[in-house]
Amino acid sequence: SYENSIAALSPAAAEFVKKKHQLFINGEWQDAAAGGTLDVIDPASGRVFTQVAAGEQADISRAVSAARRAFDEGEWAQMSPSSRGKLLWRLGDLLEQHADELAELEALDNGKPFNDARWGDVAFSYELLRYMAGWSTKITGQTIPLSSGAPFHAYTLRTPVGVCGQIVPWNFSLMMAVWKVAPALAAGCTIVLKPAEQTPLTALRLAELVQEAGFPAGVFNVVTGNGETAGAALAEHPDVDKVAFTGSTEVGKKILAAAGGNLKKVSLELGGKSPMIVYADADIEKATAAVASGIFYNMGQTCTAGTRLYLHNDVADRVLEGLVSYARDLKMGPGLDKSTQMGPLVSAEQKQRVCDYIASGLAEGATLLTGGGSWGEAGYFVEPTILDHTRNDMRVVQEEIFGPVLCVIRFSDAEEEDVVLQANQSIYGLAASIFTRDIGRAHRVAKRLKAGTIGINTHHVVDPALPFGGFKQSGWGREMGWEAIELYTELRSVGVAL
Ligand code: NAD
Repeated sequence: SYENSIAALSPAAAEFVKKKHQLFINGEWQDAAAGGTLDVIDPASGRVFTQVAAGEQADISRAVSAARRAFDEGEWAQMSPSSRGKLLWRLGDLLEQHADELAELEALDNGKPFNDARWGDVAFSYELLRYMAGWSTKITGQTIPLSSGAPFHAYTLRTPVGVCGQIVPWNFSLMMAVWKVAPALAAGCTIVLKPAEQTPLTALRLAELVQEAGFPAGVFNVVTGNGETAGAALAEHPDVDKVAFTGSTEVGKKILAAAGGNLKKVSLELGGKSPMIVYADADIEKATAAVASGIFYNMGQTCTAGTRLYLHNDVADRVLEGLVSYARDLKMGPGLDKSTQMGPLVSAEQKQRVCDYIASGLAEGATLLTGGGSWGEAGYFVEPTILDHTRNDMRVVQEEIFGPVLCVIRFSDAEEEDVVLQANQSIYGLAASIFTRDIGRAHRVAKRLKAGTIGINTHHVVDPALPFGGFKQSGWGREMGWEAIELYTELRSVGVAL
């Protein structure tokens, strides 16, 4: 229950939840200009447990001005790369020191299991901050011999892109924020962050830690608020140099249109419908475990979730038996209960969406192997669900469900080639995985699958050093690795007449 959830919080997390949650602009906590607030809901109970400020266009403008000043003048603009790196490292340390508290806030706000938040979201966030801290001092250009042989010394200079608007979703709230904040700060940019209205808390706690780490005022600003108001205002603001967005493909297209006004730089991490292909020669036990976490991790609310399973007929029964028993054994409950393995979905709207998709799959002829609908009396729980005998032309196989629903499509020996084509038959191209013991086939298929991240005998492949992003309508650009630094820098070519 809600009371149990709140009672389960540590004193530090409880104290944070009880605070008045304002906007963080120019190093100060401020109310929204229009004075509005948004309710924050515990998805395990459906109860409102706190409010945050509802920032709007005027607040975005204030935050952008603060970020502009911090970028153009003052301490940040003058700071050495090594000092920037030190601040980022310090911020990583602070996240680690407060890791349990941050994981509790995420578990309460988003609903995800505490241990997933602690060892997934939060641990990844501080590791990424440290990884990006290292890039601060290594952002270099090149010297380039001119092809004409003209007597010039020519080189490239890589400099920060400027004021960045960053709009993030609710599925990994803190981690999605840090994916964007860490490289932007390493590059020397300044930021206005707009967290998702469903899960604003960890971004606000992050702002407190940014302050504690000692970043100058105005470098990092947080404006909580709705997408159509605060988010849209940030995407279209003429003094923002770059907008980075993670979320739905539908909103990604709106961001792109809004960014067109001043042609700000755009990077987009959007939806996915990632295929997993299990061949008959795979290590079945390991493949089953990877497929299960490929779909059910984070209740399926993962952009790289393996939602389409292409399964060889010869091993289908064994794999499905394993998957069904994995799904039935998952312990469901509130994220704050440390024994929970599967929490609620983030919102009532999301739960309804997912249940409607399950119904649509069944109406189109899929067979229900396990799950099938909502769970429990309160909150937004949906059972882990497996739909067998689905086809590529069904809505459940083509559209992003963003919930714990696996679609199974069987194939035979004769369809070895065709299955790769089927896997590519999607408007998305974020991730894909292949399970086989045939090394040649694994690499051949990895090269043919149209996706930004490919797993061989594993599904979720993500690391601070590995570029991450999508083909097709899964987005533009690559986050993490050196590629993230490229997203937050501009390149100048300089020629010196000798
Ligand atoms: P969304 O795309 O609407 O929200 C993501 C972020 O964009 C939030 O911060 C939101 O406030 C903001 N936003 C919304 N409308 C905006 C606008 N017009 N201008 C600027 N910012 C705006 O996602 P959602 O509605 O929370 O979820 C809907 C679906 O999106 C999900 O069911 C799922 O399919 C998909 N989704 C994908 C990801 C991902 O990581 N790929 C993450 C979340 C949701």
